[in-house]
Amino acid sequence: MIVMKFGGTSLGDADRINSATNIIKSKTDQKPVVVVSAVAKITDLLIKLINECAMGGGSNILKGIQQRHLEILKQLNIDQSLLDNDFEELSKAARRVNNESRINDKLLDYFQSFGERMSSKIVAALLNKKDINAQALNSYDIGFLTNSNFGEAEPLQSVYTNIKNNLKRTKVVPVITGFIGKTENGEITTLGRGGSDYTAAIIGASIDADEIQIWTDVDGIKSSDPKIVKNARTLGKVSFAEASELAYFGAKVLHPKTILPAMNKNIFVKVLNSFNPKNSGTTILKDSYRNKQVIKAIVCKKNITLINIESTRMLGTYGFLATIFDIFNKNGKSVDVVSTSEVSVSLTIDNDENIEDILSELKEIANVQLLKNRAIVCVVGEGMKNTPGIASRTFGSLAKGKINIEMISLGASKINITFIVDGKEVEKAVNILHDEFYG
Ligand code: ASP
Repeated sequence: MIVMKFGGTSLGDADRINSATNIIKSKTDQKPVVVVSAVAKITDLLIKLINECAMGGGSNILKGIQQRHLEILKQLNIDQSLLDNDFEELSKAARRVNNESRINDKLLDYFQSFGERMSSKIVAALLNKKDINAQALNSYDIGFLTNSNFGEAEPLQSVYTNIKNNLKRTKVVPVITGFIGKTENGEITTLGRGGSDYTAAIIGASIDADEIQIWTDVDGIKSSDPKIVKNARTLGKVSFAEASELAYFGAKVLHPKTILPAMNKNIFVKVLNSFNPKNSGTTILKDSYRNKQVIKAIVCKKNITLINIESTRMLGTYGFLATIFDIFNKNGKSVDVVSTSEVSVSLTIDNDENIEDILSELKEIANVQLLKNRAIVCVVGEGMKNTPGIASRTFGSLAKGKINIEMISLGASKINITFIVDGKEVEKAVNILHDEFYG
């Protein structure tokens, strides 16, 4: 069995849904279990709907959501009444909110659930029209139960056996709603935005799938941002650890948490492009593996602020680092890259909103320097653990290119070298390194 998950862009309109079902049809011999997102942008519209309803409006958005689905049904020649019950339930819910003063996360989750509940029915109906025996299923009807942390719910342990038992002997192609679940009390929950990948991984792990395919709108994970490096390549294979490092840099990678259930069971996760199904995409594997390409990716993040904190009081005392991080913690500011010496700490933050309070507290205990418009560059590759000379090639080539390095951190996982450069030099730095390792 394989799990095939289709994201919103792969279900953006009638044409896309048609292509998605053709892809599913071409894999029927592998017993696909399909997981779907909502039609593109519908989740956003459902959130907008509830907000507008609470302010006494929303009827145009409601109409828009219905129109969009009806249009798809019409173009695909599917019975126009397929979603009537959902439309009715959603209209009723919208009317109820009109009279409610507060929207809470529970209600938000309920509204958002309509996206996946409707898209799964459309995909299943179209598969049936193509002579594939398919059935739309709400995940919670096959045991996808969660805790009641609305908006970011976590599946219960029982999910794995429930799903296994429910799908074990299925004779049809199940088309299951991603992103949503239910509490044991029967209240609908969501797993957080983008949560369908998580659903797919959990279902894959439950049924011991041969592989999990995440169908999206890009060819897979790239060796660098194609907007910066013209000849960036699609990576054939990356390890889970590499994918996790890359996720922070927005490299169109799945959030590590979402595929962990698959990794724990050693199931391959493939990122594939529904706009280009012949491309073999990127496979994410659990373990590191030998590959002659030691460095996989060179990625960066712009508009970073670097803070240098220096104090001789640090020398030989304890608790100084804890004090510094406590200041960030108290002010709810997340710190990303860190490097320390005996008398100084350098760290980066993603945005410097409300930084004044932090700075004044830090200045009470140390000299502080704030450097804006910096960029993080990260060289990632599992192979660097056992290959000498990677740091020297990295910094040697940058020195030749006259790029100044302002801070360095060798990631604890030993699979990345991360450093900070002036924002003006970041694109040049990334290109130099891409040429160095891929040239
Ligand atoms: N439809 C949800 C969202 O837009 C979940 C998903 O697509 O994974 O976030």
